[in-house]
Amino acid sequence: MVEYMEVEMVLNMRFSYNLLILSILLVCSWFFWENAKNNNRYRKAFAGVLGSAAVLYINRLLGIAMEDGYLQATYVLMHVERIVYYCMSVIVFAFYAYFLLCLLDQFQNVPGKKKILFFTPSTIVLLLIISSPWTKLVYYFEDGELYYGTAFLVITLGRALYEMGASIYALRKRHLLPDIFGKTIFLCIVFQFMQFIFFCIRKSDAMFFTSLLVCIVLLLMMIIVVEFYKDRTTGFLNQTAFENYCAKEIGKRNNKAVYLVKVKNYQYLKENCRELPLQEAIRQLAVHIKEYAHITSVYYLGTGRFCVISSKSDNFHEDEFLGRLEQRISEPFESNGFSVSLQLFIAIMNLESGKIKKENFHKYFIACDDMKYRMNKPMEIIHGDHFGIDQIQRYHDVEEAIERALVEKEFKMFYQPIISTQTGKMVSAEALLRLNDRVLGFVSPEEFIPISENNGKIHEISDFVMESVFRFVSEHDMEEMGLDFIEMNLSMVQCMDKHLPDKLKSYIEKYDVNPKHVNLEITETASNMDEERLQIQLMKMRKMGFTFSLDDYGTGYSNLVRVLEYPVDIVKLDKTIVWSAFHDRDNFVTLKNLISMFHDVRRKLVAEGVESEAQRDTLKELGCDYLQGYFYSKPINEDEFVAYAAKYKE
Ligand code: C2E
Ligand code: CA
Ligand code: CA
Repeated sequence: MVEYMEVEMVLNMRFSYNLLILSILLVCSWFFWENAKNNNRYRKAFAGVLGSAAVLYINRLLGIAMEDGYLQATYVLMHVERIVYYCMSVIVFAFYAYFLLCLLDQFQNVPGKKKILFFTPSTIVLLLIISSPWTKLVYYFEDGELYYGTAFLVITLGRALYEMGASIYALRKRHLLPDIFGKTIFLCIVFQFMQFIFFCIRKSDAMFFTSLLVCIVLLLMMIIVVEFYKDRTTGFLNQTAFENYCAKEIGKRNNKAVYLVKVKNYQYLKENCRELPLQEAIRQLAVHIKEYAHITSVYYLGTGRFCVISSKSDNFHEDEFLGRLEQRISEPFESNGFSVSLQLFIAIMNLESGKIKKENFHKYFIACDDMKYRMNKPMEIIHGDHFGIDQIQRYHDVEEAIERALVEKEFKMFYQPIISTQTGKMVSAEALLRLNDRVLGFVSPEEFIPISENNGKIHEISDFVMESVFRFVSEHDMEEMGLDFIEMNLSMVQCMDKHLPDKLKSYIEKYDVNPKHVNLEITETASNMDEERLQIQLMKMRKMGFTFSLDDYGTGYSNLVRVLEYPVDIVKLDKTIVWSAFHDRDNFVTLKNLISMFHDVRRKLVAEGVESEAQRDTLKELGCDYLQGYFYSKPINEDEFVAYAAKYKE
């Protein structure tokens, strides 16, 4: 009697234990569904793991109930129990493998047919199992006893194929996901290995059910962590993941290069186009990046910035990647009836030269991220590792100098005379900013303006420039000085600033200046959408009474047709094309034709960089209207300029 009770207790415990495991599994499943934010493929695959595991456990209870006599063990029931058990123990691992590969984004561009191939081995094993009651290949019953058939090994093989195959693959690709991924897979292997040893020693698969549950709980926790590091729009790892994992890994693994891919016009699009089409364009771009980079690890850092890290084991080809991207962005991205054109800036940081290391990677990355780009090229590529570390240091030094100059009011406005070739008199002057820092000495605006545009200080600098120029114009009698106007430089970022017209208006009022005495120098752009906005801005300012000059003609994309679209009266020929005309016959002819072409469309021309008498004479002969350069005067400070004007008038 006592013995019977003990047996009864053990049996009860076995049943409750399995019931407990099943309950935990069901709770996990519920938790999983409750948190199902998105319908990702890997989530569906994991649901497959959970579902097949649940069937396994329910079937297990059925088995125990039969073994313990709670349920009449009929021939059919016994077969059903075995078939479900064997089938599910293969299916659960097939889903597990599928889940791992989906999480690693391996099925992104795989057609449906190939996906079917993935499940073919499991299907064959299942057929063998299901046919066993007749073929006795996998298992059979004799006198109520269970025996393994000749093909029993296919179950073990099937499981191993999926489980070990996918685990090894996942471990090799673990750098594509946060650390927790690789660690979890490793732990799962350990548990599966333990249950295998237990099975070999005790010929019991009791451990199988426990270890399966442990693995499921581990995977569930891993999914939650991984999703914390994933970006919602693109499905890529996010900025947090980048900061936590990527930067630490640089130089450690067999990394080859880091690519920072930035949508140059993101800010503009964000302000001017609807949220959804932009998000959709970014999502489409993400899909292309993943496709072109194959399976290399890709991060989305937000605000249109992607980071691609290639390693030696990846099937990544730089030329293919860049070429296909360039081709893709040459056409707009369509979404919900909107078309969005993206422009890219790509910084390549080669890790193989050994120059970029773990310690300085961050500096390089920031320098590339802060890099000034031209708005007039659809795709621009720079090599970050070509930067010297001094260059990176310099960037930060200049940033500090800008900050100092703003606080200590160290910026100065200089003026450079512009002379009419007809009268030989000064007719205007260009206002040029000067920074003489107590630490760095003279810093060229060519260096600090782009940096200030990147860190946003340009707006404060711009205030200083406007303040100085408008004050100058109001304090001096322009007609008396023989000046038509002062030319003020506006960078692209300033031009695009929505507040610019209002700002100009407030300065007109503050200093009671006639806008005709201020001419605004703008630079051209090749971006269609930027242009639209630019035109609106320019029209507003023109209505206020300002005139414009087109600066830097001859650098970047110079397009005569486009020039005609701008409301400019004056075109400034950049000093580089002026100088090249004196070195090369062909360039000389080009310059000559250019001048006559602009005259045909009633634009006046300024030649910059006139340094010699010979240059002056030739440019005059060619019909250039105005000249500017060291031959007449370098940019000089306000007092010197007033003195110059007085002297020049004599
Ligand atoms: P930019 O508008 O093309 O200005 C002309 C540049 O050529 C000035 O350089 C001027 O000093 C220089 N230059 C003039 N004549 C000669 C010459 O005969 N020979 C040589 N070698 N150079 C000559 P700077 O002042 O260094 O300015 C560089 C650039 O910085 C400017 O190019 C302009 O794009 C930008 N910049 C200067 N001041 C401002 C400002 O107040 N606001 C903005 N947004 N940009 C500015
Ligand atoms: Ca200028
Ligand atoms: Ca210029």
